[in-house]
Formats: sequence, C-alpha cells, structure tokens
Amino acid sequence: MRVNKPHSDNCSPAGSNEIEKPGSTTDFFYQAIENADGVPFQLIFGPRIGEGYYLNIGSGITDLLGIAPEDFTENQFHSMIEECVPLTDAIPSDPPEARQKFISGELKSYRAELLLKLPSGEKKWIRDASLPLTDDETGRVIGAFGIFYDISDSKNSAINVRMAREKAFEYDRLKSAFLRNISHEIRTPLNAIVGFSTLLGECGNVQQQKEYREIITQNTDHLLGIISDIIELSKLETDIVKINKYNVNINQLLQSVYAEYNERIRDKGILFRLALPPEGEGSLLVTDGYKLKRIIINLVENALKFTESGSIGLGYEHKEDNVEFYINDTGIGISEEQKDSIFTRFYQAESSSSRSFEGSGLGLTISKAYIQLLGGNIWFTSHRGKGSEFRFTVPDVKEEK
Ligand code: ADP
Repeated sequence: MRVNKPHSDNCSPAGSNEIEKPGSTTDFFYQAIENADGVPFQLIFGPRIGEGYYLNIGSGITDLLGIAPEDFTENQFHSMIEECVPLTDAIPSDPPEARQKFISGELKSYRAELLLKLPSGEKKWIRDASLPLTDDETGRVIGAFGIFYDISDSKNSAINVRMAREKAFEYDRLKSAFLRNISHEIRTPLNAIVGFSTLLGECGNVQQQKEYREIITQNTDHLLGIISDIIELSKLETDIVKINKYNVNINQLLQSVYAEYNERIRDKGILFRLALPPEGEGSLLVTDGYKLKRIIINLVENALKFTESGSIGLGYEHKEDNVEFYINDTGIGISEEQKDSIFTRFYQAESSSSRSFEGSGLGLTISKAYIQLLGGNIWFTSHRGKGSEFRFTVPDVKEEK
C-alpha cells in the first residue's frame, strides 16, 4: 500500500516509502497549517469507526483538545463527539453513514462542525475538514487527510447573536402587546373621567355629585398609577433611579401598609394578617424606605387583586444577613406556564382581550428591579387555585455606611 495524499501529485517527492511520512514537503504543509492555527491529521480507517489510527497528527492537538499527539486515538475522538453538524446537505450527520459515502467515493470531501466534550469536561466546537486519502496501488479510499480548527469563539458568538435576536424579538412582541393593552388600560379611566366630569356638570343632585366626584378621583389615581409605572420603568431601564438609604423602622413601615389596605381588603371579605416581631433593634434597618414600601404595596396590591376569599398575610423574618419579607395569599395562584414570565416586563399585557384583572404588567418588574437595587432577591411559590407566597430579601444593615 502506498498512500496518495490528495492534491499532492505535483509536489509530492517521488517517494519510495510505502507510506509517506512527514518529510520536507509534507512537513512544510503541516507547518503552514499549524501556523494558521489548524491541526493537520492523516487518519487511516479501521474496519469500523473508532478503530482506525492517526498516521500523523499535528502537535496543536494538545492545545485544541488537551490530549498529547501520542495519546490521541480515533476511538477517543469519536467518544468525545456530542453533536455533529455537516456543512453541506450531501454529508450525512450520522458518522458511519458519512464514512461509508466517503469510502465509496460518493463524498469527495467531508466538512462538519463538531461539538466535543473534552477529557477536562470543557465543551468545544471544532471544524473537521478532510479529503480522502487513497491507496496509490488500488485507488481505494483508505483514510482521510484533514484539518481540525477551533471554532468555539465564532460558534459561541453566533449562538449569542441568535439568542440576542430571539430576546429582541420576544421583547418586541411583549412591547406590542403592552402598547395594545396599555392603550386600553389608559383609555378606561380616561373615559370614566371624561364621562363623569360631563355628568357632574349636568347633575344638580348633591349626593350624586359626590358619587361622581369619587369615581373621578378613583380613576384619576388609577391613571396616575399607570403613567408613573411607565415612567419609573423607563427610568430603571436607563439606570437613572438612585437609592436613598436612611434609618427605617420596618415595623412601622409594615403597620402603615396594613393601615392603608386593611379596609379595602376587609371590604372584599378577606382577612388581612400582619405578623410582626416585637419592636426593637431588629426592626431598624438602613435601606431606601420609600422603595421598600413601594415593593410591599405592589405585592399587597397583587395579593388583593388575585384573591377572592380567604386571607392575605404580611410579615418579615431575620435570616442570616438579611431581612426576609413575605406576602402570601389564598388567591387564584400562578400556573406553571406563567411562572417563568411573571417578572418579565409587560407580562400579562399579552392576554389583553381575555383579561379580567386590571394592571399594566409592570408591578413585579419594577419591584424586582428595586429589590436588586437594594441588594436583595425575590422569589415565589404558588399553586394554581390555592394561593401564592412572594418572598424577598433586603440586606440587614444597621448603620449607614
Ligand atoms: P399586573 O399585576 O399589573 O398585571 P405584575 O407585574 O404585578 O402586573 O404581575 C404580573 C402577573 O403576575 C399578573 O398579571 C398575574 O398574572 C401574576 N401575579 C402576580 N402576583 C400574583 C398573585 N399574588 N396571585 C396570582 N397571580 C399573580
């Protein structure tokens, strides 16, 4: 058997060796390939995939795969392959099938991107580009002469670009849904304000005038809430929201939320439970009290909005270096499909036409951003039909730094 390397006819020295070893010309090609960060190889096929041997392998294989050239075997190489992406339609992704076509001459070249799991555990994308190696005497394909390239960087950046594009697309979709919803959300209180203002002008009955004025005030507050959420979100997105830390008595803060909401919650037939540790050292915290209250109010508003009966609980506990606040309810709960999305901005705007609860879908997004600004985390547990519990932490800092 004498190996005939592809395209080497006019530069191959008239070799008397059976198999051409890297000599002057071959050596030169090998060096040129390695110089271009490729790892050249000559593989002689065995009876089955994985049973061949590398006649030559560039020393760069150590940098590429973390395996010394003398230890590199075809068996090991194939055991590392996790994914194979052929670069032309003619190349089968199944390696034995591709090998068969390569040997039969149906495939004149082989090019594929391979995801390898290296012995170190690291994953790497490489490109395998090879041509048939034929026996001079029989003309049969007996192996492959090719180059391995490291393509991890370009592959990862392509993956990142694809993910960024998908994210932008998803964001765009949510934004359109939000605009559709928000226009409805703004128009409803606006219509009420305009309508009842007109009625107010025409109505002479004092009691009725009072009712109309209350409706107008409620709708104005609601409208203001929506508009300030939108403005706050755009401020958060442009990083211009600053935190302003000072000494906060969290017992008093929770009591004030309780006082503000107890009547509304009771009017809905729901029990509002406040659980506070005794006031003292532990109830003092250096944080942004305004934002902390906004977060708690957002969560209490949601609990109230999504609960028809039962109770709503509010409290906090000291846990390691944090104060952990909780707001739980016995409301409708959050379905498994919703769970991943509820902190996404504008979420809920999606199901605008079928919605029976008002809201901009911004409350949790703003709350989460505030909590992160304060140095904490938020999470929740929920069961459809049984209720939800939101918990978030704020660092337990006692003195202003
Ligand atoms: P909004 O309440 O204005 O729609 P949020 O960002 O506050 O927006 O909440 C997003 C979504 O998360 C809600 O529309 C609702 O589907 C779900 N959700 C939030 N809190 C609760 C809760 N306590 N119980 C049930 N679902 C909730």
